Amino acid sequence: MFAVLKLLIYSMFFRELLALSGSFWHITDLHWDPTYKLTSSPELVCASSGKRPAANAGVFGDYVCDSPWHLINSSVYAMKEILPNPDFIVWTGDDTPHVPNEELGEEAVLHIIGNLTHIIQEVFPNTKVYSALGNHDYHPKSQLPAGPNYIYNQTAKMWKDWLNQPSQVTFKKGGYYTEKLLDRTGFRVLVLNTNLYYNQNKLTVDVDDPADQFMWADKVLTEAATNKEKVYIIGHVPPGIFEKKRSKAWFTPKFNQRYLEIIQKHHSVILGQFFGHHHTDSFRMFYNSGGSPISTMFISPGVTPWKTTLPGVEDGGNNPGIRVFEYDTETLLVKDLVTYYLNLTRANAARGQWEKEYRLTESFRVPDASPASMHQVLEHIANNRCYLQRFFELNSVSYDLTECNSDCRVDQVCAAREVDFNRYEHCLEKEGAAAIHGGLLQVLSVTLGLMLVSR
Ligand SMILES: [Zn+2]
Ligand SMILES: [Zn+2]
Repeated sequence: MFAVLKLLIYSMFFRELLALSGSFWHITDLHWDPTYKLTSSPELVCASSGKRPAANAGVFGDYVCDSPWHLINSSVYAMKEILPNPDFIVWTGDDTPHVPNEELGEEAVLHIIGNLTHIIQEVFPNTKVYSALGNHDYHPKSQLPAGPNYIYNQTAKMWKDWLNQPSQVTFKKGGYYTEKLLDRTGFRVLVLNTNLYYNQNKLTVDVDDPADQFMWADKVLTEAATNKEKVYIIGHVPPGIFEKKRSKAWFTPKFNQRYLEIIQKHHSVILGQFFGHHHTDSFRMFYNSGGSPISTMFISPGVTPWKTTLPGVEDGGNNPGIRVFEYDTETLLVKDLVTYYLNLTRANAARGQWEKEYRLTESFRVPDASPASMHQVLEHIANNRCYLQRFFELNSVSYDLTECNSDCRVDQVCAAREVDFNRYEHCLEKEGAAAIHGGLLQVLSVTLGLMLVSR
């Protein structure tokens, strides 16, 4: 009798545990290059290489090229195999190849968005997808307007199964929308069009609040607090600084500041921010004025392995990555993340094999992915060479396995710690000085040691 009771209690406990745990996919930066083909002239493999030779081109792609269809197909089917029934999918844009505007056009961009939408819908016909536009999902690239236009309109049509009626209206107006997460009371998703804040966007750079998105987001988040809702924010271009290039920002200073203020004001309802654009694996911390961690933005790696042409970034390629987030379905707390990847070199040589790259809580010894835990991860990286090196290798999805030196450390740490531009610059000074100080101490102790030995 007692044993039966115990079993009953156990099963209730585990059912409760299981019920609280959900998972979703985050995929980003697929960048399909329809021109990719295997040919004997390495310069002619793909348009996105910009004449850089694709010396190791294989069926899954090459590091100087955007994704061939085979890689896109392989990544979506890997999702289906690894986690066939996610609660939902977050897709944060950038579908087209890195080629000059003249080689694309409105119809070409829409054709590419359409094909990617189609394969995701085909493989996950019953899954809700929260989809954000990337700066490459427009023609000309990065020039996303703050008002209605043909591409927002056509994309809203393609995504009609994923957008409810009110979402269609705001999406057509400004490329953003909000919905209850999976139609559940108390849970909300905000999909932003942060391409309006991108410093390359000539149409919005002088506008105070493009498409009234800040005003709208502020209102939605205020109402969310009133209604005791928990919110996830989804977008493409992130605020803050790129960790692979010192002081490289994407937002204009004014927009960066506004975004930060929104998060600081509404952090109590925001349980996670999910972004792309970097193609790398990183995160951004948000703190209150007292220095306590209040929010985290997760920047997920891209599917395209494309080596960036950004001046000053050496060998900025990555392996294709896709990611599962595990979350508490009652509180929306992000509990963990697992990144899966394809080692492109190995995949081309043998059969393509997607494998687990790492699980956050295992690799960084934290209990979950809450802001407090992510702050702890950052402290590990900042203060421990082993964690720093591990984080650096994961940053390029295990592509760049060189040593993360003291400059690299400062770039990684300050980018993750400070979204605010001024505070980032101060961090560079402080951490840079710390590195020099540490280096001097090392020299001093070696010299002292030598003196002692020679005596
Ligand atoms: Zn991209
Ligand atoms: Zn982008």
